[in-house]
Amino acid sequence: MAKDHSLGYIASYKPFNFVDGEGVRCSIYVSGCLFNCPGCYNKVAQNFHYGHPYTQELEDQIIKDMSESYVQGLTLLGGEPFLNTQVCIKLCKRVREEFGHDKDIWSWTGYNWDELLQESDDKLELLSLLDILVDGRFLIDKKDLTLQFRGSSNQRIINVPESLKNGDVVIWDKLVH
Ligand code: SF4
Repeated sequence: MAKDHSLGYIASYKPFNFVDGEGVRCSIYVSGCLFNCPGCYNKVAQNFHYGHPYTQELEDQIIKDMSESYVQGLTLLGGEPFLNTQVCIKLCKRVREEFGHDKDIWSWTGYNWDELLQESDDKLELLSLLDILVDGRFLIDKKDLTLQFRGSSNQRIINVPESLKNGDVVIWDKLVH
């Protein structure tokens, strides 16, 4: 559970990038992950102590950056966003307050969809605030660098509102490969 592990630390913040989802995005990398996948792309951010504390100043900066008309949305990465729900829920709620659904919210997670649905209320609350979830651990034997926005072929790009409505996983309709 996030409350047992998270220190509310941020590994990095990358505004105006083109790689963490569709369009121009502001990405926040939270600190701490327990999955320890061999070949993890961001091993330093597995440490819950890595980086610096999330602050109101950083949140205000993210909102300011996102208010640029060319920014499509916010992306949560890590580390594990679902083990840092205190920070991620607060930020996602602020984004919805400021922009409604004019901006989208993507998140990566090491949990797969079914695991998240059986998890704690905080994880379900964060899930309910997302548009897109890229799910599942990075599996080195399924590594494929040609995949769109994923590192291994077990991972899926999921349309969250449609999946919650349908009761089953609905894949992002813009998936190319
Ligand atoms: S889930 Fe992601 S951040 Fe966590 S160990 Fe695996 S690859 Fe690294």
